[in-house]
This record gives sequence, structure tokens and C-alpha cells, in this order.
Amino acid sequence: MSVIFEPFKIKSVEPIRMTTREEREYLLQAAGYNLFLINSEDVLIDLLTDSGTSAMSSEQWAGIMRGDEAYACSKSWFRMRDTIREIFGFEHVIPTHQGRAAERILFSIMCKKGHIVPNNTHFDTTRANIEYHGARAIDLLKKEALDPAAELPFKGDMDIVALEKTINKAGQEHVPLILLTITNNSGGGQPVSMSNIRAVSAVAQKYNIPFYFDACRFAENAYFIKLREPGYQNKQVKEIVRDMFSYADGCTMSAKKDALVNIGGFLCTNDGRLAEQERELLILTEGFPTYGGLAGRDLEAIAVGLHEVLNEDYLRYRIASTQYLGRHISEAGVPIVQPPGGHAVYIDAKAMLPHIPVDRYPGQALSIELYLHAGIRSVEIGSVMFARKDPKTGSDIPAPMELVRLAIPRRVYTQSHIDFVVEAILEVYARKDKIRGVKIVQQAPFLRHFTAKFKFVK
Ligand SMILES: *Cc1c(COP(=O)(O)O)cnc(C)c1O
Repeated sequence: MSVIFEPFKIKSVEPIRMTTREEREYLLQAAGYNLFLINSEDVLIDLLTDSGTSAMSSEQWAGIMRGDEAYACSKSWFRMRDTIREIFGFEHVIPTHQGRAAERILFSIMCKKGHIVPNNTHFDTTRANIEYHGARAIDLLKKEALDPAAELPFKGDMDIVALEKTINKAGQEHVPLILLTITNNSGGGQPVSMSNIRAVSAVAQKYNIPFYFDACRFAENAYFIKLREPGYQNKQVKEIVRDMFSYADGCTMSAKKDALVNIGGFLCTNDGRLAEQERELLILTEGFPTYGGLAGRDLEAIAVGLHEVLNEDYLRYRIASTQYLGRHISEAGVPIVQPPGGHAVYIDAKAMLPHIPVDRYPGQALSIELYLHAGIRSVEIGSVMFARKDPKTGSDIPAPMELVRLAIPRRVYTQSHIDFVVEAILEVYARKDKIRGVKIVQQAPFLRHFTAKFKFVK
């Protein structure tokens, strides 16, 4: 059977308020055509992010009631620690309120001015936390992965030749750690192969450099290995995860992704001395080492979520649903980043709307149109978000790509919702020549995409 089967029943529902096109026209105008400024109750299908937007299970909600709120050494803490030890195999677990708190603690100890940190692609908070300590964050994706149309099974793989070159050029004493982001968030969650993980680990060992995962979507990555890498078809995802993590010295994790919770994170290592230093920093800003800025009930929900995310019926549904959305719009002609990743589909707005120049923001124009037409909230990942200022002229240097990301929250939407999104995108695509570009009429000096105001150009 080919129909996508959600391996869960719905016990509690959150109504979606329907809106009319006229209402959405008004709401958009009031929000200055910035979708970050639209109230969530005015959104029909919210594909802004997969972060912290998962639906929790009845077992997780039961865990919320079981949560032990003792300040020190609560039962919930030991449940979370033991679950992480069992799944990932690391000795020391440091709980944090989000992924970026784990990053900040790790990099404040490891990174100094003059250091460089290689990664397949740094997530924006990862890059910012590295650069805040004076180190340089370097992306080493393989060349062929930069082509949006290239259909490769493991587009998140790191370029091993470039990695060794970078280490030799900088000197190994200037490389405090090597990171690998699984799945690679930019590009919509492209997976990293086991053979690439092994190769990165071999380089790290050769130069005696610690090797860490940015592990936010570890289960989705493991499932792609099972689907696509020869030799893994008959292995359990749980075994694949253990195998992946056996090559690493530690990880940072945002539980808002593959731990199926709405808040939380953690940091892992096998190095006892490093863990001591990390706990000292944790106490300064996050909390005591057995809760790290989270409530006991959050620790409990993470422990349950980490088991549930490894359920292969869940992963089959999760990955099939994202692939379905990508395949159905691309077969009708909509240009997307191929192949669809684990958690998101990216529409190539520059290719879809060639009549809109990049300084009229085709990605923003398309995301506005998707909301106007069908109440779908997506996010522009292009020159509104990532244009850099030319230091000489002060004018904008456009981003390399003009994309619209459709990120899919976990266990939240049904197959009919996804069919609705497909239909809406195809209707917008049919009248794409009528979509107008926009200009920015108001913006902040940093991170302008969150607050900028836009107007249609004539
Ligand atoms: C979300 C994310 C982070 C940061 O996690 P937060 O919980 O948002 O602080 C780091 N790396 C990657 C790859 C992410 O997707």
C-alpha cells in the first residue's frame, strides 16, 4: 500500500480557525507583509519551523505529570540521563534549556581567538556562538551538494579532502574540535552517510582533534542511512544510531527537534575533566547540573520522546510525508532543492519567479502569496534573511539562493493537511507570472527578517 499512514490516533485536538482571503489581505497589510508578525491563530498551516513545534504523545503527557520537581537529583533527571546514555553511549550528560545553551557552554571552553571549527554547514546559532569567542566557523560541504538540482543520497556529507587541507593549513593545534551536523539543517535536512561519519572520525583521530555531532535530527539521519546506504537495510535504527555515535567524542542537541518536545537540549561528552568545567559554567547561567534550566517534567518528556523518535513506524511516516510533499510539487514543475530532506522542503523561488529580480525578493513574494492564497506560513531563506552589506558601497550583496522553506512540525499535521499544502502550492504555481515583487520599507540593522516591513512594487 502506498498511502501514508500516521502511526497514531488523535486524543486531543486544537481547532484551526479558518480565515477568508479578505481577512488575510487585511492581516498581511497590518503586519507589513512580514509573516513573523502574523498571529499564529490567523495561520491555517504553520510551516515556519519544525523546532519546538512537535505534538507530544499521551506517554509524554503522562511523563509531565510524573515529573519530579526536586531541585537536586530528581528521578526525572536520572531517567533522562540514563536514556541518553543508553541511546547515544556517552558517559556525561549536561542538560540545557535549548541547543544553543549547550553550544555556548562547549565553545566557551573549547574555542579561542585564532581557532577554526570545521562543520559540514554551521547552523546560525552554532556559527554565532563560535565566532563570539573569536574562532572562525568554516563550512566544508562537498561541491556537488551546492547544486540545488543534484539528486544525491547524502548531500550532507563533509568534504574530507577539504577537511584535511583546512587542518594542515591552520595547524592542528588551532582546530579545537570538528563538528558534523546530522542532518544538515541548511538545505532542509540533508543526511550524512555512515561512511562519511567514519571518514571524518578517522581524520579527527589522525590529528587528535575531538569530533562532535550537532545531533538535532539524529533519528531522521539514521533512518536515511537505513533507506539509502548499502548494508543498513536490515539494521534497526537504534543500532544505526549507536554505530553513528560510537565514532564521536560528544554532541550538542536541541531537544526541540528529534526529542519530540517543545523545549530543552543537552550536551554530551566522554571526557570527565571537560564535563566538570561544563558543569561549572552550567551552574552560572542555566542551573544545577541535574536540571540545567529545565523543569523536572521537561526532563521526563525528553526521556520519553527520545525513545519514541526511534520507532521505525514513526520515522517511515515522517520521512515519507516530507518526500511526498516534495515529490508532488516538483513533479508538477515547481523547482525545489532536490532531494527533499528530512524535515523540510525548499522551493527555489528564484527559478520559479524569474520575472522578479533578487532585489525585489522573490522568496518573500512567494511566501506572502502562499499565506494570502491559503493561509500557509512558510519562511523566506534568501536575501531578506541573508543579504550581506558591501563594506565599500553599503548596498546589499544578495544571498546565493532565494528559497522558501516549508518545515514540517512532527506528528502535528495529517496527510490531508499535506494534500491541502500541495494543492495550494500548485494553484499558486499556475498563476506565478502574476506574483509581484516587494521592497523593504523599514528594517533593523541586524536580523532584519524578524521585523522588516515590506510593500508590493508596481
Ligand atoms: C535548532 C538547531 C540548533 C539550536 O538549537 P536551539 O534549541 O534552537 O537553541 C543548533 N543546530 C541545529 C542544526 C539546529 O537545527
